[in-house]
Amino acid sequence: MASKKWQHYIAGADRAPSGNQNLQEFDPRTGEPSLIIARGTADDVDAAVKSAQMALASWKGLKPIERGRILMALAAKIRASIPELLEADQAETGRPAWQGKAEFETSAQYFEFYAGLVNLYRGEMIDIGPGYHAYTSRDPFGVVGIVLPWNAPLAQAARGIAPALAVGNVVVAKPSEFASVTTLILARLATECGLPPGVLNVVTGTGAEAGAALVDHVGIRKISFTGSVRAGREVGKAAADRLISVGLELGGKSANIVFADADVEAAVVGAIKAFTFNAGQVCSAGTRCLVERSLQVKFVDALKVALGKVKVGAADDAFMGPIITKAQFDRVHEYLAVATSEGATVFTSGQKCSAADEGWYVMPTILSDVNNTMRVAREEIFGPVVSIIPFDSEEEAIAIANDSDYGLVGGLWTSDVGRAHRVAAALEVGQVFVNDYFSGGVETPFGGVKNSGHGREKGIEALNHYVQVKSVMVKL
Ligand code: NAD
Repeated sequence: MASKKWQHYIAGADRAPSGNQNLQEFDPRTGEPSLIIARGTADDVDAAVKSAQMALASWKGLKPIERGRILMALAAKIRASIPELLEADQAETGRPAWQGKAEFETSAQYFEFYAGLVNLYRGEMIDIGPGYHAYTSRDPFGVVGIVLPWNAPLAQAARGIAPALAVGNVVVAKPSEFASVTTLILARLATECGLPPGVLNVVTGTGAEAGAALVDHVGIRKISFTGSVRAGREVGKAAADRLISVGLELGGKSANIVFADADVEAAVVGAIKAFTFNAGQVCSAGTRCLVERSLQVKFVDALKVALGKVKVGAADDAFMGPIITKAQFDRVHEYLAVATSEGATVFTSGQKCSAADEGWYVMPTILSDVNNTMRVAREEIFGPVVSIIPFDSEEEAIAIANDSDYGLVGGLWTSDVGRAHRVAAALEVGQVFVNDYFSGGVETPFGGVKNSGHGREKGIEALNHYVQVKSVMVKL
């Protein structure tokens, strides 16, 4: 697989890049060159959009149950293709195998979940008075452009593609230039399951070139973007110029609030997972851990002990793999220097599985003596780094949690059920975990407020973002 040059996937087949240019991906476990992908141009995007336009009428014209059958078959095919997907995923992201496998399972579930909804998702009949029959229908946009990040490449691709296809759209996806291959494999698997050529196309390349060309293409009627605030702003502006619908799933600086009445043992486990899962490269990571002051010493001591047990490396039993790129690896270290210069206390721990793991590994780190005005408490670091911030009351915890440019998710730990609901209601975010972190799956709507974006993915709610509602009023 490593020597193969991966091409675009257009009209149900591999397609060489029009400019004959490629991009090199790197294996974060070693820093060595790994897979080679096509460097897409506006011409490649144009070919993909045209192939999607040609496929639209027949796909949207299928009976929903027929679309559902293909999506259901794709779920099974993903599960049957784990070795191939895993080889690519590890060469691109360097993550431990268990993590890739868990993500493929989630990806399969997206197709399963939306396949099961094709006949249940429908319009409504509206009573507008005697002599009329009024109803709504939900129509697909047509060609949807889906621009994707690298941190959970296949699951994020499936999260957008599955609902878009379920309601009759066709798709051109642009995966991240750092992790494109599992999405290319997905498109081929879909063809093998009977998805008609052109219904799902994948153009690889950079954001500035292929990504921007996709957002700008006149044939694209809706954009679903997942990535950074910087790129999300550019995509949002381009979509505004074209007056097309856009969903933006952006970054976060989420608060994970631990009250003194919490089950401390469970909160420690949850807090560790919240900032070390995927080496902290998670939009919804709990990177501001707000701890009630009376619990702070006990909690941080326990957190440090637990952190010492986090295994880091390439081995199967590692919990944390490497950081995706050298640039991001350097950026995380720059933030650790910023933390020190801002007066935070830096505690780094974890267990290296093997001294031979010399890739872009960052050991998990706790920053204490942090207040919410510091850069490390306000900016998304995207590495395994948590800031501990004390608070004295429920009101103060809510105020600190909401004092952020971001608003993606929030976590809270308490044994007081009233407080759980009060705080959940007060948090300015799109998703809240109580006495857990990262719970919920393909069924629970997900998305942000403020700089974390707008629109919702996952759940039945996501379908609302891939259709346009039409009202029909019939005079009887
Ligand atoms: P990124 O913004 O650098 O890139 C995301 C995608 O956008 C890539 O495919 C890239 O090529 C493309 N792109 C970049 N500039 C573009 C432009 N001007 N026009 C069109 N496309 C463009 O983000 P990343 O580094 O790949 O991912 C990490 C970021 O994504 C983090 O901020 C993280 O929080 C966020 N993220 C959010 C969610 C969510 O659901 N809210 C999920 C995962 C990641």
